[in-house]
Amino acid sequence: MIYLRNVFCAAASLVACPFLGADVDSGGPSAKESTTSKRALIVVTDQAIRIHKAAPVFDGHNDLPWTLRKSGRAVGKIDLRMNQLDLHTDIPRLRRGGVGAQFWSVYVPVSTATHNNALTATLEQIAVVRELTKQYSDVFELALTAEDVTRIRRDGKIASLIGVEGGHSIENSLNVLRQLYREGARYMTLTHSMSLDWADSCSDEPISGGLSAFGEEIVHEMNRLGMIVDLSHVSPACMRKALETTKAPVIFSHSSARAVADHPRNVPDDVLLMTKKNGGVVMVNFFSDFVNPVDAARSRKRTAQREKLRQLHPDDDEKVTSELRQWELKNPRSDRCTVHDLLDHIDQIVKVAGIDHVGLGSDYDGVPALPAQLEDVSTYPVITQGLLDRGYTEVEIRKVLGGNVMRVFRQVEQVSSKLLQQKQVGSSE
Ligand SMILES: [Zn+2]
Repeated sequence: MIYLRNVFCAAASLVACPFLGADVDSGGPSAKESTTSKRALIVVTDQAIRIHKAAPVFDGHNDLPWTLRKSGRAVGKIDLRMNQLDLHTDIPRLRRGGVGAQFWSVYVPVSTATHNNALTATLEQIAVVRELTKQYSDVFELALTAEDVTRIRRDGKIASLIGVEGGHSIENSLNVLRQLYREGARYMTLTHSMSLDWADSCSDEPISGGLSAFGEEIVHEMNRLGMIVDLSHVSPACMRKALETTKAPVIFSHSSARAVADHPRNVPDDVLLMTKKNGGVVMVNFFSDFVNPVDAARSRKRTAQREKLRQLHPDDDEKVTSELRQWELKNPRSDRCTVHDLLDHIDQIVKVAGIDHVGLGSDYDGVPALPAQLEDVSTYPVITQGLLDRGYTEVEIRKVLGGNVMRVFRQVEQVSSKLLQQKQVGSSE
C-alpha cells in the first residue's frame, strides 16, 4: 500500500522533514537504526508523484512468468486487469507504480539443466511473455531495442523485455545463445544458483575459476549480439572476471550492496568500483533477506542449516525440507525490514560508484518477503519520495528509476554495432 499525501497538502510537501513519527531518521543510515528501531513511514507527496509520473520506472527483474507457471495458471486463464492479491503484479498496480518498462524474467530452475530440458523450458517461458503482450496488447508491447522502449512508453504502454536468468538455459552452446537473442532475450544472467562449466555462482562451489575461457567467449558473443551481460547471482570472482572481459557495460539486474547487508547475492564495494569504471548499473533487489542486515545474517544461517541437513539426510529431500521448515518457524525473519533499508543500499551504491550506476530490480513475484511499504508493484513512488527525503535531485531520481539502465541498453547496442562492423571489415579482407 502507498501512503499518499493528498493534493491539499502541496505546501506540506515542501516541508524539510517529510517523516511522520518520533524516531525520524534525518541523516545517513546506520546498521543500528535499520535493525533496532522501526523507522518512520514515508509519506508520498504531490512533488514525488509529479517527478515519478515524468520518469517511468524501468525495472530489471520481475518473476511473474515463472510464478504463473508454478501455480499452473496460463496467461489466458488469469485476468491481470483485475487485482490479483496473491501476486505482487497486475495491471492496475503496475499503472499505479508508474512502471514504463519491465524486464520479465524467463527463469527456469537449474534442475532443468540436469534433466536436459533447460532450453525447452526457457522457450516456453519466452512464450509466456509473448502471450502476455498479445493478450494485453493495449498495455504491454515487446521491446527489442532501446528505441522500442522509448516509443512504447511514449504510446503509454509498458515496454516488455525478456531477461534470461541463468546460463544453464543455453546448454553450453553459443548457437543456443544466439537463438535466445533472436527469440527476444536482451539480457542473460550468467548463472543462477548452480555453478556451470563456464561460470561460478555465488550460491555454489566454484568450478570455473570465476569465468572460464569459454565463459569469456560467451561474454564476447553477448557483446557482439547486443545482449546485456547480467552479473546477479554470480560469484564475486565471476563478477570481477566478467567485468575485465566485457566490452560493454553490464547490469546486475536484481542485486543490492554487500556492505549494507552481508549476503552473497549482493555486490561487494570493490566490484561496485569496477562497475563504475565499466559504466554498468547495479539494480537493487527488494528481497528482505538481501536488504536488511539482520535478515541477511539469518539467511546465511539458514543456508548453513540446510547444508547441515543435506549432509545428515543425503537421500531424503523431504526430511531436509520439513526439518528446514521447523528451523524457519523457530528462526523467523526480523519483521524490521522497511523501504529505508532499500534506500540505504541506493545510498551505498551512490557513495561508492556514483549516481550513474544504480537502478531498481525488484524481484517482485520471485521473493517471499518484501520491505514494509514495498509490498507490490504499485509502491515505486515511495522510493521516489524516499530519495527526495534524502536530498536527491529530480535529475538524480530519474537516473535511478530508469535513466541509467536505458543508457546501458543504448551503449550495449552501440558496442554491438561497432563489433559487427569490425567483423564485416575483417571478413572482407
Ligand atoms: Zn534471481
